[in-house]
Amino acid sequence: MKPVSYLRARSVEEAAAAHGGREEARYLGGGTNLVDLMKLGVERPEVLVDITRLPLGRVEERPDGSVCVGATVRNSDLAAHPLIRERHPLVSQAVLSGASGQLRNMATTGGNLLQRTRCAYFQDLSKPCNKRVPGSGCAAIDGVNHNHAVLGHSPHCVATNPSDLSVALAAVDAVVELTGPGGHRTVPVTEFHRLPGEHPERDTVIRPGELITGVVLPPLPAGAVSRYRKARERASYAFALASVAAVLQVRDGEIRHVGIAFGGLAHRPWRARRAEAALLGARPGTEAFAQAVHAELDAAQPLRDNAYKVSLARDLATQVLDSLTTSA
Ligand code: SF4
Repeated sequence: MKPVSYLRARSVEEAAAAHGGREEARYLGGGTNLVDLMKLGVERPEVLVDITRLPLGRVEERPDGSVCVGATVRNSDLAAHPLIRERHPLVSQAVLSGASGQLRNMATTGGNLLQRTRCAYFQDLSKPCNKRVPGSGCAAIDGVNHNHAVLGHSPHCVATNPSDLSVALAAVDAVVELTGPGGHRTVPVTEFHRLPGEHPERDTVIRPGELITGVVLPPLPAGAVSRYRKARERASYAFALASVAAVLQVRDGEIRHVGIAFGGLAHRPWRARRAEAALLGARPGTEAFAQAVHAELDAAQPLRDNAYKVSLARDLATQVLDSLTTSA
C-alpha cells in the first residue's frame, strides 16, 4: 500500500501552490487515464491535487469570436455544446469517436490533451520502456508494433498519441492556455505535444507544475467546413489506427484555406503542412487531394508491422477532403 495525500483545490492559485512543480505531484481531473495508470503501477504519485472543482468548467465565446473551452469541461459536455457543434463540428466528432459514453462523462478537456500513450509495453512493468523508465530500452521497436508510429518516431520510442480531440484541435490552430510557477502562457496545440527524440518520457512541452486552464479555438474562415474521421479495429471504444481532421474553405473554385491533421501516426497530432501547401490555391478534386496527401506521407518510415497505416491514412484523408468539397 502506497500512501497518497489528496487535496481538493478551490482556485487555480491554490492548485498550483499545492502542486508546487514537484515530481511526485499530479493534478487529478476525471482520472480516466491517471487512475488506470496508478492501478498498473505506471504512475506512482504521492500527492494528488483535485482540480475538478476549479471554475474552469465552461465553454464560452470571447469578443474576438474565438471559443474558450475550460480545462475541466467534460468530454460529453464539450461534444454536445452548441458552440462546438455549430462552429467546430470536427471537434465534436473527434470527441464522440473516442472512449465510451461513461468515460466521456468523466474525462476532461485538459486531461484529454495529457493522456499517455496506450503502447502496451508502456503499461507493462515487466517490459523495457524508455517512456516509463528512461534509458531502459523500447520493447516495441522489435516487438508487436502494428499500432505504432510511422511518422516522426525515434530509436528511443515509436509510440503514438492516443487523443482524438488533440488531432481536431491541431487542425483548427487551437491554443492551450497554461498557468504555473512561471505565470501564464499560451502554446499552440501543434507545438504542445512533442516528438519523442531522445526524451520520450516527455509527452508535451508542459513545465513542472503547469496546469492547463483552457483551450482556445479561433474562428474558422467564413464558409469553411470541417470533418473528423477515424479508422479503428472495431466499431466503438478503440484508439485510432489512423484518423484525419480537416478544415477546408473553397471560394471561386480554389482552395483558400486548408488545415489537415493526422492522428494515430505519430507521437503527436501530425499537422500535414506539406499537403496543405500543395493544396492552397489549387482546384479541389480527388486527384489533387490524393497527390497532396501522398506528398505528406512520403516522409513515413513504417515499422515491421504497420506499413498498412500509410495507405490507410492516405485513403482516409482523401475521402475526408473529397467529402468536404461536396459539402462546401
Ligand atoms: Fe515505451 Fe515508447 Fe517503446 Fe512503447 S514505443 S515501449 S512507450 S519507449
